Amino acid sequence: MATIEHWINGAGTGGVSTRSAPVFQPATGGRQHTVLLGEPADVDAAVRAATAAFAEWAQASLSQRTKVLFAFRELVNAHSREIAEIVSDEHGKVLSDAAGEVQRGLEVIEFACGIPQLLKGGYSDQASAGVDVFSFREPLGVVAGITPFNFPAMVPMWMHPIAIACGNTFVLKPSERDPSSAGFVARLWQRAGLPDGVFNVVHGDKVAVDAILDHPGIAAVSFVGSTPIARYIHQRATAAGKRVQALGGAKNHAVILPDADLDFAAEHLVASAFGSAGERCMAISAAVLVGDADQLVDLVAARAAEVRVGPGRDPASEMGPVITAAAKERIENLITVGERQGATVAADGRGLKIPGYEDGFFVGPTVIDRVTPAMDVYTEEIFGPVLSVVRSADADQAISMINSNPYGNGTAVFTNSGEAARRFQRGVHVGMIGVNVPIPVPMAYYSFGGWKDSLFGQSHIYGPDGVDFYTRAKVVTQRWPATSAFSEASLHFPTAR
Ligand code: NAD
Repeated sequence: MATIEHWINGAGTGGVSTRSAPVFQPATGGRQHTVLLGEPADVDAAVRAATAAFAEWAQASLSQRTKVLFAFRELVNAHSREIAEIVSDEHGKVLSDAAGEVQRGLEVIEFACGIPQLLKGGYSDQASAGVDVFSFREPLGVVAGITPFNFPAMVPMWMHPIAIACGNTFVLKPSERDPSSAGFVARLWQRAGLPDGVFNVVHGDKVAVDAILDHPGIAAVSFVGSTPIARYIHQRATAAGKRVQALGGAKNHAVILPDADLDFAAEHLVASAFGSAGERCMAISAAVLVGDADQLVDLVAARAAEVRVGPGRDPASEMGPVITAAAKERIENLITVGERQGATVAADGRGLKIPGYEDGFFVGPTVIDRVTPAMDVYTEEIFGPVLSVVRSADADQAISMINSNPYGNGTAVFTNSGEAARRFQRGVHVGMIGVNVPIPVPMAYYSFGGWKDSLFGQSHIYGPDGVDFYTRAKVVTQRWPATSAFSEASLHFPTAR
Protein backbone atom coordinates (compact mmCIF):
# COMPACT_ATOMS: atom_id res chain seq x y z
CA MET A 1 0.00 0.00 0.00
CA ALA A 2 1.60 3.28 -1.15
CA THR A 3 2.16 6.18 1.22
CA ILE A 4 1.38 9.50 -0.43
CA GLU A 5 4.10 12.00 0.48
CA HIS A 6 4.36 15.75 0.25
CA TRP A 7 6.13 17.40 -2.71
CA ILE A 8 8.48 20.14 -1.54
CA ASN A 9 11.22 21.86 -3.53
CA GLY A 10 10.94 19.45 -6.44
CA ALA A 11 11.04 16.15 -4.53
CA GLY A 12 8.78 13.79 -2.62
CA THR A 13 9.29 13.94 1.14
CA GLY A 14 7.79 12.67 4.33
CA GLY A 15 8.90 15.81 6.12
CA VAL A 16 8.27 15.60 9.86
CA SER A 17 4.81 14.04 9.42
CA THR A 18 3.97 11.16 11.68
CA ARG A 19 0.20 11.20 11.34
CA SER A 20 -1.58 9.67 8.34
CA ALA A 21 -5.06 8.94 7.00
CA PRO A 22 -6.49 6.14 4.88
CA VAL A 23 -7.39 6.78 1.25
CA PHE A 24 -10.28 4.55 0.20
CA GLN A 25 -11.39 3.17 -3.12
CA PRO A 26 -15.08 4.08 -2.94
CA ALA A 27 -16.10 1.43 -5.50
CA THR A 28 -14.84 -1.45 -3.34
CA GLY A 29 -14.93 0.23 0.06
CA GLY A 30 -11.33 -0.93 0.56
CA ARG A 31 -8.35 1.11 1.61
CA GLN A 32 -5.93 1.70 -1.28
CA HIS A 33 -3.32 4.16 0.02
CA THR A 34 -2.19 6.03 3.08
CA VAL A 35 -1.69 9.78 2.95
CA LEU A 36 0.61 11.68 5.25
CA LEU A 37 -0.96 14.48 7.27
CA GLY A 38 1.32 17.50 7.34
CA GLU A 39 2.47 19.33 10.44
CA PRO A 40 3.13 23.09 10.68
CA ALA A 41 6.83 22.37 10.09
CA ASP A 42 5.95 20.71 6.76
CA VAL A 43 3.97 23.78 5.71
CA ASP A 44 6.88 25.95 6.81
CA ALA A 45 9.33 23.88 4.73
CA ALA A 46 7.09 24.29 1.67
CA VAL A 47 6.77 28.04 2.25
CA ARG A 48 10.53 28.39 2.64
CA ALA A 49 11.10 26.52 -0.64
CA ALA A 50 8.45 28.64 -2.36
CA THR A 51 9.90 31.86 -0.96
CA ALA A 52 13.37 31.00 -2.22
CA ALA A 53 11.98 30.05 -5.65
CA PHE A 54 9.93 33.26 -5.86
CA ALA A 55 13.04 35.42 -6.08
CA GLU A 56 13.89 33.93 -9.47
CA TRP A 57 10.48 32.95 -10.81
CA ALA A 58 9.01 36.42 -10.31
CA GLN A 59 11.86 37.75 -12.47
CA ALA A 60 11.49 35.09 -15.21
CA SER A 61 10.46 36.79 -18.44
CA LEU A 62 6.96 36.37 -19.78
CA SER A 63 8.45 34.40 -22.62
CA GLN A 64 10.21 31.98 -20.23
CA ARG A 65 7.07 31.50 -18.16
CA THR A 66 4.93 30.97 -21.24
CA LYS A 67 7.29 28.26 -22.52
CA VAL A 68 6.87 26.33 -19.27
CA LEU A 69 3.11 26.75 -19.39
CA PHE A 70 2.85 25.46 -22.95
CA ALA A 71 5.04 22.46 -22.04
CA PHE A 72 2.88 21.80 -18.98
CA ARG A 73 -0.25 21.99 -21.15
CA GLU A 74 1.18 19.37 -23.50
CA LEU A 75 2.13 17.06 -20.63
CA VAL A 76 -1.26 17.29 -18.89
CA ASN A 77 -2.92 16.64 -22.23
CA ALA A 78 -0.68 13.64 -22.94
CA HIS A 79 -1.28 12.19 -19.45
CA SER A 80 -4.94 13.12 -19.11
CA ARG A 81 -6.02 9.48 -19.16
CA GLU A 82 -3.70 8.59 -16.24
CA ILE A 83 -4.86 11.59 -14.23
CA ALA A 84 -8.48 10.60 -14.90
CA GLU A 85 -7.77 7.04 -13.75
CA ILE A 86 -6.24 8.27 -10.47
CA VAL A 87 -9.24 10.53 -9.92
CA SER A 88 -11.72 7.78 -10.75
CA ASP A 89 -10.08 5.30 -8.37
CA GLU A 90 -9.89 7.64 -5.39
CA HIS A 91 -12.99 9.75 -5.91
CA GLY A 92 -15.22 7.09 -7.46
CA LYS A 93 -16.56 9.11 -10.39
CA VAL A 94 -16.81 7.34 -13.75
CA LEU A 95 -13.80 7.58 -16.04
CA SER A 96 -15.51 9.70 -18.71
CA ASP A 97 -16.54 12.18 -16.01
CA ALA A 98 -13.00 12.25 -14.59
CA ALA A 99 -11.69 12.85 -18.12
CA GLY A 100 -14.12 15.76 -18.41
CA GLU A 101 -12.74 17.22 -15.18
CA VAL A 102 -9.18 17.03 -16.53
CA GLN A 103 -10.34 18.66 -19.78
CA ARG A 104 -11.90 21.60 -17.89
CA GLY A 105 -8.66 22.00 -15.91
CA LEU A 106 -6.70 21.91 -19.14
CA GLU A 107 -8.77 24.80 -20.43
CA VAL A 108 -7.60 26.93 -17.49
CA ILE A 109 -3.98 26.01 -18.31
CA GLU A 110 -4.64 27.07 -21.91
CA PHE A 111 -6.04 30.38 -20.65
CA ALA A 112 -2.91 30.83 -18.53
CA CYS A 113 -0.74 30.24 -21.63
CA GLY A 114 -2.01 33.65 -22.79
CA ILE A 115 -0.43 35.36 -19.78
CA PRO A 116 1.58 37.93 -21.80
CA GLN A 117 -1.68 39.27 -23.19
CA LEU A 118 -3.46 39.03 -19.82
CA LEU A 119 -0.80 40.99 -17.96
CA LYS A 120 -0.73 43.90 -20.37
CA GLY A 121 -1.28 47.13 -18.53
CA GLY A 122 -2.71 50.45 -19.65
CA TYR A 123 -0.77 53.37 -21.11
CA SER A 124 -1.84 57.00 -21.43
CA ASP A 125 0.45 59.10 -23.54
CA GLN A 126 0.63 62.81 -22.67
CA ALA A 127 -1.77 62.53 -19.73
CA SER A 128 -0.50 65.96 -18.80
CA ALA A 129 1.95 68.16 -20.67
CA GLY A 130 5.08 66.00 -20.98
CA VAL A 131 3.67 63.41 -18.58
CA ASP A 132 2.77 59.79 -19.40
CA VAL A 133 0.95 57.33 -17.14
CA PHE A 134 1.08 53.55 -17.30
CA SER A 135 0.10 50.57 -15.18
CA PHE A 136 1.37 47.05 -14.72
CA ARG A 137 0.75 44.16 -12.37
CA GLU A 138 3.18 42.24 -10.18
CA PRO A 139 2.88 38.81 -8.50
CA LEU A 140 2.04 38.62 -4.79
CA GLY A 141 4.67 36.12 -3.64
CA VAL A 142 3.88 32.71 -2.14
CA VAL A 143 0.19 31.86 -2.53
CA ALA A 144 -1.69 28.80 -1.28
CA GLY A 145 -4.60 26.70 -2.51
CA ILE A 146 -6.79 24.51 -0.28
CA THR A 147 -9.07 22.27 -2.28
CA PRO A 148 -12.06 19.89 -1.88
CA PHE A 149 -12.41 16.18 -2.68
CA ASN A 150 -14.95 16.47 -5.46
CA PHE A 151 -12.67 17.75 -8.23
CA PRO A 152 -9.19 16.68 -7.11
CA ALA A 153 -7.54 17.57 -10.44
CA MET A 154 -9.68 20.40 -11.82
CA VAL A 155 -10.16 22.65 -8.80
CA PRO A 156 -6.40 22.93 -8.07
CA MET A 157 -6.01 23.74 -11.78
CA TRP A 158 -8.44 26.63 -11.32
CA MET A 159 -5.66 28.07 -9.17
CA HIS A 160 -2.04 27.04 -9.76
CA PRO A 161 -1.66 27.57 -13.53
CA ILE A 162 -2.78 31.19 -13.28
CA ALA A 163 -0.95 31.90 -10.02
CA ILE A 164 2.29 30.50 -11.45
CA ALA A 165 1.82 32.20 -14.85
CA CYS A 166 1.52 35.50 -12.96
CA GLY A 167 4.94 34.88 -11.36
CA ASN A 168 3.87 33.58 -7.94
CA THR A 169 5.01 30.39 -6.26
CA PHE A 170 2.42 27.96 -4.93
CA VAL A 171 1.65 25.66 -2.00
CA LEU A 172 -1.26 23.26 -2.59
CA LYS A 173 -3.09 21.48 0.24
CA PRO A 174 -5.32 18.98 -1.60
CA SER A 175 -8.18 17.02 -0.09
CA GLU A 176 -6.87 14.19 2.07
CA ARG A 177 -9.60 11.93 0.67
CA ASP A 178 -8.25 11.79 -2.91
CA PRO A 179 -4.74 13.24 -2.75
CA SER A 180 -2.77 11.32 -5.41
CA SER A 181 -3.36 13.43 -8.52
CA ALA A 182 -1.60 16.40 -6.85
CA GLY A 183 1.77 14.61 -6.75
CA PHE A 184 1.31 13.36 -10.31
CA VAL A 185 0.65 16.91 -11.53
CA ALA A 186 3.64 18.21 -9.52
CA ARG A 187 5.92 15.86 -11.48
CA LEU A 188 4.44 17.12 -14.76
CA TRP A 189 5.24 20.71 -13.74
CA GLN A 190 8.81 19.64 -13.06
CA ARG A 191 9.10 17.88 -16.44
CA ALA A 192 7.71 21.03 -18.08
CA GLY A 193 10.74 22.92 -16.80
CA LEU A 194 9.22 24.68 -13.80
CA PRO A 195 12.03 25.45 -11.33
CA ASP A 196 11.93 23.43 -8.11
CA GLY A 197 10.10 25.16 -5.29
CA VAL A 198 7.62 27.01 -7.51
CA PHE A 199 4.93 24.34 -7.05
CA ASN A 200 4.70 22.45 -3.75
CA VAL A 201 2.17 20.09 -2.24
CA VAL A 202 1.56 19.56 1.47
CA HIS A 203 -1.01 16.92 2.32
CA GLY A 204 -3.01 17.13 5.48
CA ASP A 205 -6.05 18.07 7.48
CA LYS A 206 -7.00 21.03 9.68
CA VAL A 207 -3.49 21.15 11.19
CA ALA A 208 -1.87 21.87 7.81
CA VAL A 209 -4.70 24.22 6.81
CA ASP A 210 -4.37 26.30 9.98
CA ALA A 211 -0.60 26.48 9.51
CA ILE A 212 -1.22 27.89 6.00
CA LEU A 213 -3.78 30.41 7.25
CA ASP A 214 -1.43 31.73 9.93
CA HIS A 215 1.88 31.57 8.03
CA PRO A 216 3.31 35.08 7.61
CA GLY A 217 5.15 34.00 4.45
CA ILE A 218 1.93 33.33 2.51
CA ALA A 219 0.39 36.34 0.78
CA ALA A 220 -2.90 34.92 -0.45
CA VAL A 221 -5.18 31.91 -0.02
CA SER A 222 -7.60 30.41 -2.52
CA PHE A 223 -10.05 27.98 -0.96
CA VAL A 224 -12.79 25.82 -2.45
CA GLY A 225 -14.90 23.61 -0.19
CA SER A 226 -17.95 23.65 2.06
CA THR A 227 -19.52 26.86 3.36
CA PRO A 228 -18.68 26.54 7.08
CA ILE A 229 -15.00 25.95 6.27
CA ALA A 230 -14.98 28.67 3.58
CA ARG A 231 -16.32 31.18 6.10
CA TYR A 232 -13.70 30.09 8.65
CA ILE A 233 -10.85 30.27 6.11
CA HIS A 234 -11.91 33.72 5.03
CA GLN A 235 -12.11 35.06 8.58
CA ARG A 236 -8.88 33.55 9.83
CA ALA A 237 -6.72 34.26 6.78
CA THR A 238 -8.09 37.79 6.42
CA ALA A 239 -7.29 38.42 10.08
CA ALA A 240 -3.75 37.27 9.30
CA GLY A 241 -3.54 39.97 6.61
CA LYS A 242 -3.87 37.74 3.56
CA ARG A 243 -5.83 38.22 0.38
CA VAL A 244 -8.55 35.52 0.39
CA GLN A 245 -11.05 34.02 -2.01
CA ALA A 246 -13.09 31.26 -0.37
CA LEU A 247 -15.67 29.46 -2.46
CA GLY A 248 -18.29 27.55 -0.49
CA GLY A 249 -21.16 25.14 -0.92
CA ALA A 250 -24.37 25.36 -2.87
CA LYS A 251 -28.02 24.52 -3.30
CA ASN A 252 -28.63 24.92 -7.01
CA HIS A 253 -32.19 25.25 -8.28
CA ALA A 254 -33.43 24.53 -11.78
CA VAL A 255 -36.75 26.15 -12.58
CA ILE A 256 -38.83 24.39 -15.22
CA LEU A 257 -41.44 26.68 -16.70
CA PRO A 258 -44.64 25.26 -18.22
CA ASP A 259 -43.56 26.10 -21.78
CA ALA A 260 -40.30 24.07 -21.53
CA ASP A 261 -39.65 20.96 -23.59
CA LEU A 262 -40.29 18.36 -20.88
CA ASP A 263 -38.22 15.52 -22.40
CA PHE A 264 -35.25 17.85 -22.80
CA ALA A 265 -35.66 19.16 -19.24
CA ALA A 266 -36.01 15.65 -17.75
CA GLU A 267 -32.90 14.38 -19.52
CA HIS A 268 -30.83 17.36 -18.38
CA LEU A 269 -32.16 17.31 -14.82
CA VAL A 270 -31.11 13.68 -14.47
CA ALA A 271 -27.65 14.35 -15.93
CA SER A 272 -27.04 17.37 -13.70
CA ALA A 273 -28.44 15.86 -10.49
CA PHE A 274 -26.81 12.43 -10.74
CA GLY A 275 -23.63 13.03 -12.74
CA SER A 276 -20.64 12.48 -10.45
CA ALA A 277 -23.15 11.05 -7.93
CA GLY A 278 -24.36 14.59 -7.25
CA GLU A 279 -20.98 15.53 -5.77
CA ARG A 280 -20.61 18.70 -7.80
CA CYS A 281 -20.97 22.19 -6.39
CA MET A 282 -22.91 23.03 -9.56
CA ALA A 283 -25.18 19.95 -9.45
CA ILE A 284 -28.88 20.70 -9.62
CA SER A 285 -30.26 19.51 -6.29
CA ALA A 286 -33.64 21.26 -6.33
CA ALA A 287 -35.98 21.17 -9.32
CA VAL A 288 -38.65 23.84 -9.03
CA LEU A 289 -41.56 22.82 -11.22
CA VAL A 290 -43.94 25.59 -12.17
CA GLY A 291 -47.52 24.61 -12.98
CA ASP A 292 -48.58 21.00 -13.52
CA ALA A 293 -45.57 18.96 -12.39
CA ASP A 294 -46.73 15.32 -12.39
CA GLN A 295 -45.69 14.49 -15.94
CA LEU A 296 -42.16 15.81 -15.44
CA VAL A 297 -41.75 14.00 -12.09
CA ASP A 298 -42.73 10.74 -13.81
CA LEU A 299 -40.24 11.34 -16.62
CA VAL A 300 -37.39 12.18 -14.23
CA ALA A 301 -38.13 9.26 -11.91
CA ALA A 302 -38.27 6.83 -14.84
CA ARG A 303 -34.96 8.07 -16.24
CA ALA A 304 -33.38 8.06 -12.76
CA ALA A 305 -34.24 4.39 -12.39
CA GLU A 306 -32.41 3.67 -15.68
CA VAL A 307 -29.09 5.29 -14.66
CA ARG A 308 -26.44 2.59 -14.71
CA VAL A 309 -24.67 2.70 -11.34
CA GLY A 310 -21.36 0.89 -10.95
CA PRO A 311 -17.63 1.23 -10.42
CA GLY A 312 -16.06 4.24 -12.12
CA ARG A 313 -13.60 2.13 -14.10
CA ASP A 314 -16.41 0.10 -15.77
CA PRO A 315 -17.17 1.80 -19.12
CA ALA A 316 -20.81 0.73 -18.76
CA SER A 317 -21.25 2.79 -15.57
CA GLU A 318 -22.92 6.20 -15.82
CA MET A 319 -22.63 6.98 -12.11
CA GLY A 320 -20.16 5.79 -9.47
CA PRO A 321 -20.22 5.59 -5.67
CA VAL A 322 -20.07 8.51 -3.22
CA ILE A 323 -16.81 9.39 -1.50
CA THR A 324 -17.01 7.65 1.90
CA ALA A 325 -19.11 5.25 3.94
CA ALA A 326 -20.03 8.21 6.18
CA ALA A 327 -21.27 10.21 3.17
CA LYS A 328 -23.43 7.25 2.07
CA GLU A 329 -24.95 6.95 5.52
CA ARG A 330 -25.61 10.69 5.79
CA ILE A 331 -27.26 10.86 2.36
CA GLU A 332 -29.50 7.85 3.05
CA ASN A 333 -30.48 9.29 6.43
CA LEU A 334 -31.46 12.60 4.85
CA ILE A 335 -33.72 10.78 2.37
CA THR A 336 -35.40 8.99 5.28
CA VAL A 337 -35.83 12.27 7.17
CA GLY A 338 -37.38 13.80 4.03
CA GLU A 339 -39.90 10.97 3.90
CA ARG A 340 -40.66 11.42 7.59
CA GLN A 341 -41.19 15.15 7.10
CA GLY A 342 -43.85 14.51 4.44
CA ALA A 343 -42.03 14.27 1.10
CA THR A 344 -42.65 11.42 -1.35
CA VAL A 345 -39.78 9.29 -2.60
CA ALA A 346 -40.42 8.88 -6.35
CA ALA A 347 -37.14 7.06 -7.07
CA ASP A 348 -35.30 5.44 -4.16
CA GLY A 349 -31.55 4.87 -4.20
CA ARG A 350 -31.20 3.69 -0.60
CA GLY A 351 -29.73 0.29 0.15
CA LEU A 352 -28.32 -0.19 -3.34
CA LYS A 353 -25.91 -3.14 -3.68
CA ILE A 354 -23.80 -3.56 -6.80
CA PRO A 355 -22.95 -7.24 -7.49
CA GLY A 356 -19.24 -7.79 -6.93
CA TYR A 357 -18.95 -4.43 -5.16
CA GLU A 358 -21.15 -5.06 -2.14
CA ASP A 359 -18.95 -3.01 0.19
CA GLY A 360 -18.75 0.00 -2.18
CA PHE A 361 -20.20 3.35 -1.10
CA PHE A 362 -23.08 3.30 -3.59
CA VAL A 363 -26.29 5.31 -3.34
CA GLY A 364 -28.69 5.09 -6.28
CA PRO A 365 -30.32 8.10 -8.00
CA THR A 366 -33.08 9.38 -5.78
CA VAL A 367 -35.96 11.71 -6.60
CA ILE A 368 -37.92 13.19 -3.70
CA ASP A 369 -41.17 14.87 -4.65
CA ARG A 370 -43.36 17.38 -2.81
CA VAL A 371 -40.43 18.86 -0.93
CA THR A 372 -40.98 22.18 0.82
CA PRO A 373 -38.35 24.78 1.74
CA ALA A 374 -38.77 23.87 5.43
CA MET A 375 -37.60 20.27 5.00
CA ASP A 376 -34.04 19.13 5.77
CA VAL A 377 -33.58 17.70 2.27
CA TYR A 378 -34.08 21.25 1.00
CA THR A 379 -32.10 23.20 3.59
CA GLU A 380 -29.08 20.83 3.71
CA GLU A 381 -26.49 20.61 0.97
CA ILE A 382 -26.88 16.84 0.50
CA PHE A 383 -23.94 16.43 -1.90
CA GLY A 384 -25.20 13.10 -3.19
CA PRO A 385 -27.42 11.76 -5.98
CA VAL A 386 -30.64 13.22 -4.62
CA LEU A 387 -32.97 15.53 -6.53
CA SER A 388 -35.63 17.33 -4.54
CA VAL A 389 -38.74 18.45 -6.42
CA VAL A 390 -40.43 21.59 -5.16
CA ARG A 391 -43.65 22.82 -6.71
CA SER A 392 -44.25 26.48 -7.39
CA ALA A 393 -47.30 28.43 -8.51
CA ASP A 394 -45.47 30.74 -10.91
CA ALA A 395 -42.07 31.95 -12.08
CA ASP A 396 -41.95 34.89 -9.65
CA GLN A 397 -42.51 32.57 -6.68
CA ALA A 398 -39.71 30.33 -7.99
CA ILE A 399 -37.34 33.30 -8.26
CA SER A 400 -38.17 34.47 -4.75
CA MET A 401 -37.54 30.92 -3.43
CA ILE A 402 -34.08 30.98 -5.00
CA ASN A 403 -33.40 34.39 -3.55
CA SER A 404 -34.48 33.32 -0.06
CA ASN A 405 -31.90 30.53 -0.10
CA PRO A 406 -28.63 31.36 1.67
CA TYR A 407 -26.56 29.98 -1.23
CA GLY A 408 -26.15 31.62 -4.63
CA ASN A 409 -23.77 29.45 -6.64
CA GLY A 410 -25.57 28.29 -9.79
CA THR A 411 -29.09 28.08 -11.14
CA ALA A 412 -30.85 27.24 -14.38
CA VAL A 413 -34.12 27.90 -16.10
CA PHE A 414 -35.76 25.65 -18.68
CA THR A 415 -38.06 27.57 -21.00
CA ASN A 416 -38.76 28.37 -24.62
CA SER A 417 -39.49 32.01 -23.83
CA GLY A 418 -36.70 34.55 -24.22
CA GLU A 419 -38.69 37.03 -22.20
CA ALA A 420 -39.09 34.60 -19.28
CA ALA A 421 -35.40 33.67 -19.41
CA ARG A 422 -34.37 37.32 -19.38
CA ARG A 423 -36.63 38.05 -16.43
CA PHE A 424 -35.10 35.07 -14.62
CA GLN A 425 -31.46 35.95 -15.30
CA ARG A 426 -32.03 39.52 -14.14
CA GLY A 427 -34.08 38.54 -11.08
CA VAL A 428 -32.03 35.82 -9.38
CA HIS A 429 -29.32 36.60 -6.81
CA VAL A 430 -26.97 33.92 -8.10
CA GLY A 431 -23.50 34.09 -9.64
CA MET A 432 -23.80 31.58 -12.50
CA ILE A 433 -26.96 31.13 -14.52
CA GLY A 434 -27.90 28.64 -17.23
CA VAL A 435 -30.69 29.09 -19.74
CA ASN A 436 -31.57 25.57 -20.87
CA VAL A 437 -28.05 24.73 -19.62
CA PRO A 438 -28.21 22.90 -16.27
CA ILE A 439 -24.54 23.14 -15.21
CA PRO A 440 -23.44 26.62 -16.29
CA VAL A 441 -19.77 26.38 -15.28
CA PRO A 442 -18.21 29.39 -17.03
CA MET A 443 -15.56 28.78 -19.66
CA ALA A 444 -11.95 29.35 -18.60
CA TYR A 445 -11.90 32.88 -20.05
CA TYR A 446 -14.74 33.98 -17.77
CA SER A 447 -14.53 33.61 -14.00
CA PHE A 448 -16.29 31.18 -11.68
CA GLY A 449 -18.01 32.25 -8.49
CA GLY A 450 -21.25 32.33 -6.60
CA TRP A 451 -22.98 34.93 -4.49
CA LYS A 452 -24.00 35.01 -0.81
CA ASP A 453 -22.83 31.98 1.24
CA SER A 454 -21.25 30.41 -1.85
CA LEU A 455 -18.34 32.86 -1.90
CA PHE A 456 -16.46 34.77 0.79
CA GLY A 457 -14.17 37.49 -0.55
CA GLN A 458 -14.42 39.65 -3.64
CA SER A 459 -12.70 37.74 -6.43
CA HIS A 460 -14.23 34.96 -8.42
CA ILE A 461 -11.83 32.20 -9.38
CA TYR A 462 -9.84 31.64 -12.63
CA GLY A 463 -10.35 33.75 -15.79
CA PRO A 464 -9.74 37.48 -15.57
CA ASP A 465 -10.59 37.56 -11.84
CA GLY A 466 -7.89 34.94 -11.27
CA VAL A 467 -5.26 37.16 -12.87
CA ASP A 468 -6.39 40.09 -10.73
CA PHE A 469 -6.44 37.97 -7.57
CA TYR A 470 -2.88 36.70 -8.02
CA THR A 471 -1.37 40.10 -8.87
CA ARG A 472 -1.39 43.65 -7.61
CA ALA A 473 -1.26 46.79 -9.66
CA LYS A 474 1.21 49.62 -9.91
CA VAL A 475 0.57 52.87 -11.75
CA VAL A 476 3.55 54.95 -12.82
CA THR A 477 3.26 58.65 -13.62
CA GLN A 478 6.40 59.82 -15.32
CA ARG A 479 7.97 62.78 -17.05
CA TRP A 480 11.35 63.07 -18.69
CA PRO A 481 12.05 66.78 -18.85
CA ALA A 482 14.76 67.91 -21.23
CA THR A 483 17.71 68.64 -18.95
CA SER A 484 17.97 72.19 -20.29
CA ALA A 485 14.25 72.95 -19.90
CA PHE A 486 13.15 75.20 -17.07
CA SER A 487 10.36 73.49 -15.18
CA GLU A 488 8.36 75.44 -12.70
CA ALA A 489 7.12 73.33 -9.76
CA SER A 490 4.12 74.44 -7.79
CA LEU A 491 3.10 73.61 -4.23
CA HIS A 492 -0.57 73.13 -5.08
CA PHE A 493 -2.03 69.65 -5.65
CA PRO A 494 -0.93 68.49 -9.11
CA THR A 495 -3.55 68.80 -11.87
CA ALA A 496 -3.18 68.04 -15.56
CA ARG A 497 -1.97 70.73 -17.89
P1 NAD B 1 -14.52 20.53 2.96
O1 NAD B 1 -14.90 21.93 3.28
O2 NAD B 1 -14.81 19.47 3.96
O3 NAD B 1 -12.94 20.43 2.67
C1 NAD B 1 -12.29 21.33 1.80
C2 NAD B 1 -10.85 21.49 2.26
O4 NAD B 1 -10.82 22.04 3.57
C3 NAD B 1 -10.07 20.18 2.31
O5 NAD B 1 -8.78 20.39 1.80
C4 NAD B 1 -10.05 19.83 3.79
O6 NAD B 1 -8.89 19.14 4.18
C5 NAD B 1 -10.10 21.19 4.46
N1 NAD B 1 -10.82 21.17 5.75
C6 NAD B 1 -11.87 20.36 6.08
N2 NAD B 1 -12.27 20.63 7.34
C7 NAD B 1 -11.47 21.61 7.81
C8 NAD B 1 -11.41 22.32 9.06
N3 NAD B 1 -12.25 22.05 10.05
N4 NAD B 1 -10.48 23.27 9.19
C9 NAD B 1 -9.63 23.56 8.19
N5 NAD B 1 -9.64 22.92 7.00
C10 NAD B 1 -10.57 21.96 6.80
O7 NAD B 1 -15.20 20.18 1.53
P2 NAD B 1 -15.23 18.79 0.79
O8 NAD B 1 -16.16 17.87 1.50
O9 NAD B 1 -13.86 18.31 0.49
O10 NAD B 1 -15.87 19.25 -0.60
C11 NAD B 1 -17.26 19.36 -0.81
C12 NAD B 1 -17.72 20.78 -0.59
O11 NAD B 1 -17.02 21.66 -1.45
C13 NAD B 1 -19.19 20.97 -0.92
O12 NAD B 1 -19.76 21.80 0.04
C14 NAD B 1 -19.16 21.66 -2.28
O13 NAD B 1 -20.30 22.43 -2.59
C15 NAD B 1 -17.95 22.50 -2.14
N6 NAD B 1 -17.42 22.89 -3.43
C16 NAD B 1 -17.60 24.18 -3.83
C17 NAD B 1 -17.15 24.57 -5.07
C18 NAD B 1 -17.34 25.98 -5.56
O14 NAD B 1 -16.76 26.31 -6.56
N7 NAD B 1 -18.11 26.81 -4.88
C19 NAD B 1 -16.49 23.65 -5.90
C20 NAD B 1 -16.29 22.36 -5.44
C21 NAD B 1 -16.76 21.99 -4.19
